[in-house]
Amino acid sequence: MPYLPAGLPLPQPTDADAPFWEAARRHELVVQRCTECGTFRHSPQPCCYNCQSFNYEWVKIKGNGVIFSYTNVVHPVHPALKDRVPFNVVLVELPEAGNVRIVGNLVDTPFEDLYVGMPVEVTFDDMDEGTTLPQWKRAS
Ligand code: ZN
Repeated sequence: MPYLPAGLPLPQPTDADAPFWEAARRHELVVQRCTECGTFRHSPQPCCYNCQSFNYEWVKIKGNGVIFSYTNVVHPVHPALKDRVPFNVVLVELPEAGNVRIVGNLVDTPFEDLYVGMPVEVTFDDMDEGTTLPQWKRAS
């Protein structure tokens, strides 16, 4: 069962980020890396912020990271969340991908146990037949 309830707006992939969502559907985490200067970036963009190259590749990573920041959401910001609050939102830093940061939820740990630097790993939340969200769980 997904961490978040049905009824939320789901990602609408663009040309720039469709490969990210397609990989998530396969339960793989990928990050863009510039093929000119090697800089990783997230969220997906057509151009490198470091060298302005439009050449890039998608790199499959293991999905091991640490919590960079987190918060506890207590107000339902969408009607579908009225019975789901409180829930956590985490910003995960990925050392294996140039320390890019990805937002998600930590699905298996109460808010009181979260801390900056907490090791986490990716898990995949199948929201429906077409959408999978990369999420996070406590590292095993
Ligand atoms: Zn670059």
